[in-house]
This record gives sequence, structure tokens and C-alpha cells, in this order.
Amino acid sequence: MMELKTDTSIEAMHAAGQVVGRALTAVRKAAAVGVTLLELDEVAREVLREAGATSPFLGYRPSFAPTPFPAVICASVNDAIVHGIPDRYRLRDGDLVSIDCGAVVDGWAGDSAISFTVGRARPADVTLIETAERALAAGIAAAVVGNRIGDIAHAVGTVCRTAGYGIMEDYGGHGIGRRMHEDPPVPNEGRPGRGLPLRHGMVLAIEPMLIAGGTDAYHAAPDGWTLRTNDGSRAAHTEHTVAITEAGPRILTER
Ligand code: MG
Ligand code: MG
Repeated sequence: MMELKTDTSIEAMHAAGQVVGRALTAVRKAAAVGVTLLELDEVAREVLREAGATSPFLGYRPSFAPTPFPAVICASVNDAIVHGIPDRYRLRDGDLVSIDCGAVVDGWAGDSAISFTVGRARPADVTLIETAERALAAGIAAAVVGNRIGDIAHAVGTVCRTAGYGIMEDYGGHGIGRRMHEDPPVPNEGRPGRGLPLRHGMVLAIEPMLIAGGTDAYHAAPDGWTLRTNDGSRAAHTEHTVAITEAGPRILTER
């Protein structure tokens, strides 16, 4: 069931969102050639700890997962799209890194993700990341009272498809509140004018995931968590938690 949030609850979610924004900024700043993904996880843990926040990722175990998630960030490098587990991998020159982070403050959750490159970037990666950011911006711009979920999905999908990138059919955005994943699902492709009408007080995580090779095919790595492109091409992931208000969409996880 979809729950509408009061303005007071949206303020509380903004507090959680600001912690997520700070964590992602700190992780991005720390990311450099030679730094391990575990070290990036520790950077995010420190930001959450200082803020008195807990992680909705740590120990998370959805039905598909063989093990509880062991970290506070997902770190997905190159052909990993989402849900990468931080490990001892050391970042290399030209890597494309996607970091997803969540925080819970006073019982309210925030969820956001960024993609960036390390060292000397490949031009194709820069274009891919810019397109993921444009897709997110288009989705947020469509998150207005009077529109429907399908309008957000269509806006995101149109940017991705027009650029020739692939999309994950079974993964996308979601409602968010006291739990990180709530109804309704927010797909990354859809038909305008369809789906649930958007109302003041809905809070959604909008999150384009783009596959550079243009195919929609992906698979789970042996760890049971990491999702990788089938064609080996690189992927990008951007996400914000957004409140739909009469005054327009409000990003709660700004950086
Ligand atoms: Mg996320
Ligand atoms: Mg999310």
C-alpha cells in the first residue's frame, strides 16, 4: 500500500537524505586510483556514525539474496550495474564507479546513488554518466502533482533509449519512507499517462540504471548480489529520493 507523508515527515526524511548526500560526497572525494572499495565503505560508515544514522543496506536480505548485505554502500565498478559488494578491489585508472547509499535517521530512510570515473576517464563513460544524470533530472521534472507514475517512467526511459542505452526491466525506483523499499514501483521505462496518479506527500526514489552496450541483458554474479551486464559493457546508476509536493518536486538527498 502506498503511504502519503505529512510535511513534518518529509522534513524528517530530508534529515536522512542530507546524511546520504554527505556520505556520497565524502565517498566520491575519497575515491582514487589504489583505494579499495572496502575503504570507501568505511568512509560512508564514518559519515553515518557521526550523524547518528543507521544503514538500511547493512544486513538487508531480500528474498533473492543468499546472504545479508555486508556493507553500508553498494559499490559497482565498470560492468557491474548495481548491488556490488565492497571488497578489497583497488580502483584503477579509468574505472567507472557507481555508489549507492542509504541512511535511516529517526526512523526515516533516504536513498541515493551516483556514478563517477576515477583517474583518466573514457569519453564514452563521461557521456554515459551525463545521460544517466539527464535521465534522473527528466524523471524528477515529471514528478509533479497531476502526473502519473508512467510519466516519470516514460521521461527516464526516453532519455536512456534515445541515447541508445539498455535498461534493466526488473529493477527501478520505488516508494520510500520508514522502509527503504515501499510501494509503488517506479520503473525506468513506461507509458505516459498510465499508473498511479502522483499526489502531494508521495516520496519516491527515482533511479535510472543504464547499460552502455544497448542490450537489456544482465545476470547475477556468483556472490548472488552484484548485477553485471551480459555484454560486458559499462553501466551507470543515479538516484535521488524525491518528495512530490504542491510546490513541485523536492530532492531530499541533495549533495
Ligand atoms: Mg539506492
Ligand atoms: Mg533505491
